[in-house]
Amino acid sequence: MKKRLQHPVFKIIAKIAGEHNIQTYVIGGFVRDLFLNRDSKDIDVLVMGNGIKFAEKICASLGKESKLSVFKNFGTAMIKYKNWEIEFVGARKESYRKDSRKPIVEDGTLEDDQNRRDLTINAMAISLHPDSYGQFLDPFNGIEDLDMHVIRTPLNPEITFSDDPLRMIRAIRFATQLNFTIEKDTLEAISKQKDRIKIVSMERIVDELHKIILSKKPSVGFKLLDKTGLLNMIFPELSKLKGVETIKGKSHKDNFLHTIKVLDNICKNTDDLWLRWAALLHDIAKPDTKRFSEDGWTFHGHEFVGAKKVPGIFRKMKLPLNHKMKFVQKMVLLHLRPIVLSQEIVSDSAIRRLLFEAGDDVEDLMTLCEADITSKNDIKIKKYLANFKIVRQKLKEVEEKDNVRNFQPPVTGELIIETFALKPSKIIGDIKAEIKEAILDGRIKNDYNEAYQFMLEEGKKHGLEVAKLK
Ligand code: ATP
Repeated sequence: MKKRLQHPVFKIIAKIAGEHNIQTYVIGGFVRDLFLNRDSKDIDVLVMGNGIKFAEKICASLGKESKLSVFKNFGTAMIKYKNWEIEFVGARKESYRKDSRKPIVEDGTLEDDQNRRDLTINAMAISLHPDSYGQFLDPFNGIEDLDMHVIRTPLNPEITFSDDPLRMIRAIRFATQLNFTIEKDTLEAISKQKDRIKIVSMERIVDELHKIILSKKPSVGFKLLDKTGLLNMIFPELSKLKGVETIKGKSHKDNFLHTIKVLDNICKNTDDLWLRWAALLHDIAKPDTKRFSEDGWTFHGHEFVGAKKVPGIFRKMKLPLNHKMKFVQKMVLLHLRPIVLSQEIVSDSAIRRLLFEAGDDVEDLMTLCEADITSKNDIKIKKYLANFKIVRQKLKEVEEKDNVRNFQPPVTGELIIETFALKPSKIIGDIKAEIKEAILDGRIKNDYNEAYQFMLEEGKKHGLEVAKLK
């Protein structure tokens, strides 16, 4: 154990702790990650006494390279030292009220502090005092749960979750990140206490949700959220995708299971949170557009309706309403387009239109489409992937030739005004749009000379005369 605490920061903490005879411990996530061999730069130091004063002493010892921030209201202090963040806090005892996840806090013992932790694997501590340096303090046998890959609360799970319901999503988040199993009583307690999630702010929920989405296999977390009933409370739109309906022997697929499979698939190819969000939302409007006809189930227009739903979902979930939201919206809107292109004999014009609409996000769109293949039939998967390869190749060729990805009209509105001596009016926009259509159709090249000639012809059709040059 001592071997693992070789970093000079721990030596300095021990020295100061010895000099002032203050019991101190490293606790929580850092200890857990130490045993998991996960690299961790966040250290939580528990002090039996005043955490802020202790941090001030450590900061002075660490010298110039360390920077101290004090959070008086919380009674905590944080030192940034090189790329480490070390948080100091006095041991505390917490008691909860029914309507808030913010506890009433008072000074406590190490035991009190370990009791208030969310999970056994997060409650382990190691002494940093020189008299007991390296002593491992694990009252809830977190080490065994780590070995057995089990998520469990230290005390009664129902009380633990009712006190601070965010812990339910944290439990599911750790189960997902670490690929651990949630112990039976703990899992049942989540189902029982799920309604308590109402007192947690959406921001905190989404923080945890993002850690699930950014894990290697997010479907684990979404299945647990669903199983415990939390999903319907925090993300009802996703929950609505569940289920299979059968009419006249014809069934559609379960769109929830499909969606989380697409999310797992895309995680193999991107770490981008927002592209992962696009995977999560790509079929979100399937329940709204579901119809049955003699030919079977259809979801016509689900990409349009889905794109329209994105801002509402982002607003409700307190996600940013900026270019990231627009990106997700664009992905949802366009997610079927490459599939259509892969099925037909593709014309350059269709490829040009996709390049124009997707712009620089065309690669991401292809990544989404490839993830969207969830067939169980290997031959089909191979066939679809091969088709997408052809689409990617075509996109490359057409882009090299025609350069429409970041389309800028070769003829500007000002030039149209000047050429025909016009006052600002609708016709300028019409001519510009006709030029764009001609380029995307491939009737003219994406260059100035051809676009200028085309503009003159269009002007003539509209009865415009070329102004005399001054
Ligand atoms: P990560 O760095 O992956 O988020 P972590 O465990 O370090 O994991 P933090 O949120 O930094 O997560 O929390 C540090 C420690 O504080 C945890 O290990 C746990 O002991 C405790 N903790 C955090 N949140 C809660 C909570 N809601 N209830 C009880 N204990 C908590």
